[in-house]
Amino acid sequence: MIGVAASSGSKEAILIAGVAGLVAGSMSMAVGEHVSVSSQRDAEHADIERETQELAGEPQAELNELAMIYMKRGVARELAMTVAQQLSARNPLGVHMRDELGIDQASLARPFQAAVVIGRWPPWRAAP
Ligand SMILES: [Zn+2]
Repeated sequence: MIGVAASSGSKEAILIAGVAGLVAGSMSMAVGEHVSVSSQRDAEHADIERETQELAGEPQAELNELAMIYMKRGVARELAMTVAQQLSARNPLGVHMRDELGIDQASLARPFQAAVVIGRWPPWRAAP
């Protein structure tokens, strides 16, 4: 901005340079947020991929694993196995994602949404 002011001296040029600087700044913040959430999402997708393969390859081990998780939370052994079996019968990947990985299917990281929610998009919106 200072460079433009010194070279041309036109008020319009200074204003344009200033606005361009603001827009570029908030866009780069939005891009940064997008990248950080994207890598979180990539990690989640890798976990889901691995879990899918484990479920396909060793369903019994996965069932035991799930039952162990419920026992650690205070559920009695037999009941824990029953709960693991019944939840797995319905949606095996979903229950492992939630109870083993702590991933809520409904709130999987959405990069663009994150940039909007934290107020960095669109760039002309006031910063929080
Ligand atoms: Zn599992």
